[in-house]
Amino acid sequence: MLSNAQARRVLIEAVAQIVIDHAEELTALDQAIGDGDHGINMKRGAEAVLAELDKHAESDLPDALKAIGMALVMKVGGASGPLYGTFFMTLGKTLPAQPSASDTVAAFEAALQAVMARGKSHPGQKTMLDVLAPALESLRADPSPSEMLCSTVAAAAEATIPMQAERGRASFLGERSIGHMDPGARSSALIIDTVCRTLETSVK
Ligand code: ADP
Ligand code: MG
Repeated sequence: MLSNAQARRVLIEAVAQIVIDHAEELTALDQAIGDGDHGINMKRGAEAVLAELDKHAESDLPDALKAIGMALVMKVGGASGPLYGTFFMTLGKTLPAQPSASDTVAAFEAALQAVMARGKSHPGQKTMLDVLAPALESLRADPSPSEMLCSTVAAAAEATIPMQAERGRASFLGERSIGHMDPGARSSALIIDTVCRTLETSVK
């Protein structure tokens, strides 16, 4: 899985495209509880990744993930750029070129911990961590790209709606942050859902 350039190309392109396709939705979510730039930020990052698609696809998995992480840090900006950048760079540093299921779980855990350290945050504060942490639990239970992982991340993003934000710009709203989905939780769910659907198709 992901051991050849074509498989990496298909996956990277699918993830970047889903982010671009949902830019308006992500921006609308951020307009409700932030400053309305999350979709624009993420789209800029996704376009930067697509601009170097050949290079990323031809690199092995760790190098591709590190380069994608760097591109996100440089291009996305905002709070989410360094956090997503940290996530992908840590995956790249931790995963071997031919990861086993347990390598994937270990790398995802390291990446989650790195985002928590960088954001000085933890799950339960209405952020992307409220999708990333349940995704890790789902991977622990079943490390294959499964329907369970897809439904877990969708439900986890929905579950941020009744939460009150304690990190990021949305936290400035206090109780008024309740009743809206967190934009970073939604983008994380979109990305993980697409990874899992794309891998599921390529494995079958
Ligand atoms: P900004 O808030 O700087 O405008 P974005 O709009 O691109 O940046 O990203 C906002 C998202 O970043 C939030 O919806 C949230 O999921 C995530 N986020 C913000 N701060 C943190 C943090 N400290 N830890 C984890 N995630 C965070
Ligand atoms: Mg914003």
